[in-house]
Amino acid sequence: MKKQVIFGPAGKPLKYKGEGYKSPEFIHNEGLDSFEYQCSYGVRIKEKSASILKKEADKNNILISMHGPYYINLCSKDKEKIDKSIEHLIKSAKAGEWMGAYRIVFHPGFYTNRKPKKAMEISKNTINTLLERCEEEGIENFIFSPETTGKRTQQGNISEIVELCSSFEHFEPTIDFAHIHARGRGLLNSKEDYNCIFSTIEDNLNINRLHCHFTTIEYGDGGEIKHHTLDETDKYGPNIKDLLENLIDNGWKANIICETPQRDEDALIMKKIYESLI
Ligand SMILES: [Zn+2]
Repeated sequence: MKKQVIFGPAGKPLKYKGEGYKSPEFIHNEGLDSFEYQCSYGVRIKEKSASILKKEADKNNILISMHGPYYINLCSKDKEKIDKSIEHLIKSAKAGEWMGAYRIVFHPGFYTNRKPKKAMEISKNTINTLLERCEEEGIENFIFSPETTGKRTQQGNISEIVELCSSFEHFEPTIDFAHIHARGRGLLNSKEDYNCIFSTIEDNLNINRLHCHFTTIEYGDGGEIKHHTLDETDKYGPNIKDLLENLIDNGWKANIICETPQRDEDALIMKKIYESLI
């Protein structure tokens, strides 16, 4: 069976000591196929380094995605924060284009005591402006990828992410299964529990490769608390095997970015589990 699911780390490999933008060769030699470059605390990478990343990724067959800044909020109550969020996303899209990132991942925002429906309306208005700005800036190759979020105060349950992506060009989802699990306070406990996620996606979007995040996760009443390693699967869910079995059964093409504290090392364990199942 063809390998439809590929794996890679969120951020530099643990034992890699060089610059992140030069890491594709190391990642390839480890046996992984993708890499999510982290700009979580601001887009600081320059065009020269980003172009090296693109070249190294092409040479080593590594699929690149980028994680944008954490402080983006499309539906802020504060107009200035919305404007800043748009500029962060523009900066991300530019850097993403330089590095050849096939997705620009970001967390859409916070409800801040408003009805989710109202927050959605504001986010959509912001995205209209964002897409106009991208055109003005001449950015052509970009796909924004809003992520399913882990806290119940955040915009980003699965139907909101699917709604955002079905409403705009240049938008495809990032499905963070740990966040869905934490938000639902322990939702994903069997292979079948993933069906409702996949049917929501399939009914509304046409996706070639599903971009995913995975980690084991600790949660409380408000949702996400902390990411854990794969060897803590007995204590914290979800179980990667359930997800992989479902992806295989449904023939999904997916890229799973490992967000455990063990990044690349756990990504390799996930890959081994996958290979034992196909
Ligand atoms: Zn994530």
